[in-house]
Amino acid sequence: MGGCIMQIVVVNCPACGGSYDGRLTSRFVTCEYCGTRFALSEDELNALGFTDADDDGLDDEDLEPDTSSDPMDVFAREACEASLKGVDESLFASSTKIVRGLNIRDGDDIYLIHDDTLFKSGKDGFAITSSGLYCREMGERSAHFVSWSDFAQGGKPELIDSYIRQDGTSICYFSDSNDVRDDVLVPLYRRLYRHACKV
Ligand SMILES: [Zn+2]
Repeated sequence: MGGCIMQIVVVNCPACGGSYDGRLTSRFVTCEYCGTRFALSEDELNALGFTDADDDGLDDEDLEPDTSSDPMDVFAREACEASLKGVDESLFASSTKIVRGLNIRDGDDIYLIHDDTLFKSGKDGFAITSSGLYCREMGERSAHFVSWSDFAQGGKPELIDSYIRQDGTSICYFSDSNDVRDDVLVPLYRRLYRHACKV
């Protein structure tokens, strides 16, 4: 590439060979030609200037500094609102069934809720509320609840398949859209965790 001082890195889709050279927000890329979703190798990520010191799959630069000292419920409400901007609202529609299915307590303000079942039976999904995190995995008999203070004391949330887990416990179960999971929910839980640890 004579004369060009910037290194140009082209990543090719493993399915169709289409090239990708845009800005990366996570280590996963959806091919704009064929829609295949693939993970970049460490070498490719390094070459593209993608840094991920905390190894959560997201570019470290993508997370704005957290300057807020709001209590966790206020922070969570605002973070959920901001995250849902431009996202298909039907994915996060509330219903009596999912509120019951997650055993959400009376008095909780629900900031984000998702029914992950095909026929919206409320039998699995997750929610973020004023008091903490609710999640019910597929096939689980009942939901479990992680308070904000328990969340702050646990390990860093990790994305494993369709789940975000903390110390092995699922705190988010979302299988409807990989893009929304990776680009909206993972950064949201990461922000929530960082704030919970701080306040
Ligand atoms: Zn492709």
